[in-house]
Amino acid sequence: MTHYTHIGDTRIQPVHRASCHCGGVVLELQLPHGVENPRHCNCSICRRRGAVCASVPVSALRIVQGEALLTLYQFNTRVAKHYFCKVCGVYTHHQRRSDPGVYAFNVGCLEGVDPFRLGLLPTADGINHVSDRPAGE
Ligand SMILES: [Zn+2]
Repeated sequence: MTHYTHIGDTRIQPVHRASCHCGGVVLELQLPHGVENPRHCNCSICRRRGAVCASVPVSALRIVQGEALLTLYQFNTRVAKHYFCKVCGVYTHHQRRSDPGVYAFNVGCLEGVDPFRLGLLPTADGINHVSDRPAGE
């Protein structure tokens, strides 16, 4: 587990705000240990949107503004729920297919955070999703 309590000059707050580009959608994320395991992912949607993701329990993400602006996108097995702002198109978070108790969120939406200050990050092998593999793998 890799924790980042600072990213660039920004200290990650225990409750840190995140927003889409137009500012219509505002989230509050409980990040008591900082940003945990930020990563890229090579699945069919992540490699297109290119966002750096990290995860929090579903209970640790609260939509404080703009819930009506969030659009739900689902594909393939339609289990994962991907949300983006319908005004500016920015991906904010998604409920993971491999663990519905977890939201992945866009680290670049955290206020004051430039995820590229993290340097080279690991890439999750989302194209070979754990839910797509035969049982036992
Ligand atoms: Zn927006």
